[in-house]
Amino acid sequence: MKDTGKRHVAILGSTGSIGTQALEVIRANRDRFEVEVLTAGSNDELLMAQALEFQPNAVVILDESKYQNLKDRLFPEGIKVYCGAAALSEVVEMEAIDVVLTALVGFAGLQPTLRAIAAGKHIALANKETLVVAGELVTAAAREKGVNIYPVDSEHSAIFQCLMGEFHNPIEKIYLTASGGPFREKSIEELKAVTKAQALKHPNWVMGAKITIDSASLMNKGLEVIEAKWLFALRPEQIDVIVHPQSIIHSIVQFCDGSMKAQMGLPDMKLPIQFALGYPDRTSTDFPRFDFMNYPTLTFEKPRRDVFLNLDLAFRAMERGGNMPCVLNAANEVAVALFLQDEISFMEMPELVGNCMEKIAFLPKPTLADYLECDRETRALATELKRAVKL
Ligand code: NAD
Ligand code: MG
Repeated sequence: MKDTGKRHVAILGSTGSIGTQALEVIRANRDRFEVEVLTAGSNDELLMAQALEFQPNAVVILDESKYQNLKDRLFPEGIKVYCGAAALSEVVEMEAIDVVLTALVGFAGLQPTLRAIAAGKHIALANKETLVVAGELVTAAAREKGVNIYPVDSEHSAIFQCLMGEFHNPIEKIYLTASGGPFREKSIEELKAVTKAQALKHPNWVMGAKITIDSASLMNKGLEVIEAKWLFALRPEQIDVIVHPQSIIHSIVQFCDGSMKAQMGLPDMKLPIQFALGYPDRTSTDFPRFDFMNYPTLTFEKPRRDVFLNLDLAFRAMERGGNMPCVLNAANEVAVALFLQDEISFMEMPELVGNCMEKIAFLPKPTLADYLECDRETRALATELKRAVKL
């Protein structure tokens, strides 16, 4: 990224948990960052308020029914207003943008991310689903264009921070830490009966609904394992997960001499967000500091892959490769949506994902068109399976 002057940022998904925290970071560092683009799914009121405050060049709303209202209010301010998924992919190409923060949820992040990379923009990547689905394509495109992908996910930011000054040293393995979520100690029988309200209460982080459910089912950690494989060019056997309920150690790198580096701190997503946006510089903050005496014990456990089946499915999808992670992700997006609509139970989520992984045809080297088709086909199958067997 440019060394001097302000960084010009586009935020895809500015009304979400990561998006609003990114704007807090920018609000506190107006001398370092300039907002060029803001986008949202359907929350036009918040998008409007953000646009009036940050005066971006353009905004995009996915929901076309909200377009007119936004346009009437923002056009007189000199802010361009667009709507629809195609506009989301186009707007990232704007000349003035240096870095695109992908803070939207799910598969929808893939195409705008690829377009941004093709246009030579650096990526601050929160949208892990993009790398899960098509990590090979995305990282190859970034290499070819010479753009950097800065991780926003706290675990991957931790690994990235541990690697600074070590980029020439081979990694032996990494440990991704996991809080274990709200159901860390529950049995399969107990998990069958957990409710949406219980699953939406994460012990250490406040996040969007989809990632909160993924954290409770450990699918989030599974997605992060695949994300790590692509970000740090690792072989599957180099990636391990360790449950660390206090969420103070954000992840660990082990080098070839056996030395381990960990990155620590109180859990606050603003830290990895601002590290990704401001790299390589750290930004001073008045965030609360960690006090060892508040955490005299940091503990570690093995994840229970026989209970949290999603984590096991994700490892299997990564080991198989090809389109399997895309199948895993699409089936999971459907499963989480169904769980949030009270259509299926907590333990039926991995069942649906596992069924899709068995039934969708394996493609060893998918193209972008294959991924789009595989995502569509898996969603249709997951919906059909749910209807047919009345899971
Ligand atoms: P969120 O649900 O709070 O916000 C999502 C944002 O994307 C909103 O602005 C929404 O309007 C927009 N959006 C949703 N679907 C869209 C679509 N189909 N097209 C365009 N825009 C759409 O989600 P979040 O918790 O901020 O998570 C965002 C991403 O960051 C996810 O991929 C998540 O896994 C990742 N992430 C989040 C956290 C966290 O603390 N929240 C931590 C690590 C990684
Ligand atoms: Mg994470």
